Amino acid sequence: MDISSLIFESKHTPRIYTPNEHCITTCKISRGANKVMTRLISAGFQAFLVGGSVRDLLLERNPIDFDVATNATPTQISSIFRRSRLIGRRFKLVHVRENSELIEVATFRKSPEHSHGADKTRIIFRDNDFGRIEDDVIRRDYTLNALYLDYATLNIFDFVGGMQDLNNGVLRLIGDPEARFGEDPVRVLRAVRFSESLNFKIAGFTDTQLKKYGARLRYIPPARLFVEMDKLFLRGFASRNFCRLRELGLLSHLLPFEECCQNPQFNSVREDFLESALSSTDTRVMEGGSATLGFLIAVFLWFPLKMQIEKLSKFENAPTEALVSAEEFILLTQLKKVAIPRRITKSVRDIWALQRIFAKPSKRKADRIIRHPRLRAAYNFFCLRVEAGEIPDDPIRWWSGFFEKSKKSGKLPFSSSLSYRLDRSRQ
Ligand code: ATP
Ligand code: MG
Repeated sequence: MDISSLIFESKHTPRIYTPNEHCITTCKISRGANKVMTRLISAGFQAFLVGGSVRDLLLERNPIDFDVATNATPTQISSIFRRSRLIGRRFKLVHVRENSELIEVATFRKSPEHSHGADKTRIIFRDNDFGRIEDDVIRRDYTLNALYLDYATLNIFDFVGGMQDLNNGVLRLIGDPEARFGEDPVRVLRAVRFSESLNFKIAGFTDTQLKKYGARLRYIPPARLFVEMDKLFLRGFASRNFCRLRELGLLSHLLPFEECCQNPQFNSVREDFLESALSSTDTRVMEGGSATLGFLIAVFLWFPLKMQIEKLSKFENAPTEALVSAEEFILLTQLKKVAIPRRITKSVRDIWALQRIFAKPSKRKADRIIRHPRLRAAYNFFCLRVEAGEIPDDPIRWWSGFFEKSKKSGKLPFSSSLSYRLDRSRQ
């Protein structure tokens, strides 16, 4: 089916789902989003809930955030909300703060054919021409992300058959894959994320297209890739997303060492280590706990780090020198791809540094690290290494005894005990 002609035909005649035809009510919408939309409407503008929140509410999942679309311009939005900030280079939107919530309010946009800013790569770096809802809809990526809940009536406007796709478990790109993936390769990562996390079938584009346009991820700024990396690995589907990205040959756009760390010496151990770390992260997220990207990045880069240390040890005089330069090299190379904030790289370094202490236990060092903020993450990391067969399990007995004693004497700052296996899903 040629979806663009379908959009063209249906452009002015959306299918409208009335409130009794869908399950979204105002009490399912966050307080902040309710407030923001109410104020936009009282100021005389339109207000629609869009994107992931409509999708997730219809699928009876908890939305991560609530995005609002309106016919008010960014300047008009800013003048309505005192606690707001104009953000974005690729396209401008307004962040409105409502207590602890951050609501993204975007003005309807128009197709980038009329925009400027695409360079020779055809990637759109600026997409700021304002339009009407009919224009806005074809700027969205997938049909299931293009449903508009009109806050004034609670009707859902569906211009592209998103509701049907949602019900049939189909992820369908809006428009021509060559054009849409070409102008923004991040949509490739989003395709992986949505199809894996929702378990939806892909319609209208192929793996070959994902691979082809995924190669253009090299042009995407590191800061934007960080946002996607966070979503890919911290939403409970890290394991599936990781495998799918690897299958498509796209992992190296996020993790530059993935291709070159296929060292036969490490392979099966590394695979076990990765799989346990990814699935324990997913379990934790699914059980409502929080997981940290620092832990996973420490995992992803651990074997590349070991290989680099080995390589440098042949040239550097002291082992600590090799260790420091290897760590610098690995993290800097990673940061060139993905802009990982400093607080996260700090936790990666801490997790790695604590490994040496865990491997050679001593009472003096153990007392020193007992209140370390990364103790739990680092010990969990150590246990995963033992489980994967990378290192012997002898130190585990020592540490179990030490944690038991520390818990009894009230020195261990956690309510539950740290112990091998028991702590597998804890970071
Ligand atoms: P989630 O918030 O759960 O990650 P989402 O779909 O809401 O998923 P956001 O990044 O919050 O993702 O974007 C909100 C909406 O903006 C999307 O649903 C989609 O309609 C549109 N959108 C986001 N990124 C793109 C993109 N790269 N190309 C086209 N439309 C996009
Ligand atoms: Mg969202």
